[in-house]
Amino acid sequence: MLIGNNCVVSINYTLKNDSGSVMDESPEGQPLVYLHGAAGIIPGLETELTGKAIGSEFKVSITPEEAYGEHQPHLVQQVERNQFPADIDLTVGMQFQAQTEGGPMPVIITELSDETVTVDGNHPLAGLNLHFEGSIADVRDATEEEISHGHPHGPGGHDH
Ligand code: ZN
Repeated sequence: MLIGNNCVVSINYTLKNDSGSVMDESPEGQPLVYLHGAAGIIPGLETELTGKAIGSEFKVSITPEEAYGEHQPHLVQQVERNQFPADIDLTVGMQFQAQTEGGPMPVIITELSDETVTVDGNHPLAGLNLHFEGSIADVRDATEEEISHGHPHGPGGHDH
C-alpha cells in the first residue's frame, strides 16, 4: 500500500544540516513510527513521503518554513541569574520549562554570565535547512482508535 492519510508509517532516517553533520537519526532497528496526515512529523517530510511504498528510499532537503520555522529573535531572552534557584547548577545546554504568559515553554540555556542567563525558546532545529535521507520500513492502515487519538499505538508508538 502507498502512504496516504490515516496510514501508520515507519521510517529509518538520518537528518543532516547544511554542513553535513548528523543532527538526528533513527536508531538501528528502531524506525520512527508516525500517523500520516496528523502533523506527527514536519510538513515538508510528510509531503515528500506521500505516495511512497514499503522499501522506497527518500532523500529530501527541507527549508525552515516547511520544518521548524525561522529562528525567532524574540524567543531569546536574558534573565537575571538570581531569578533561578541558587541550588541549581546552571550549564549551557540545560533544558527546562519556562513559565510564560502563553503557558509553559521548553527553553534551552545558550549563554551564561555571572549576572545573566540567556535562554532560547526556539526549537533547536529552527532556522535550519534539514536534509533527510532514509527508507520506508513499514506502512499499514491506522486503527479507528489511532485516528481518533492522532498518533500510532504499538511498537514505536504510544503504549498507553
Ligand atoms: Zn492513543
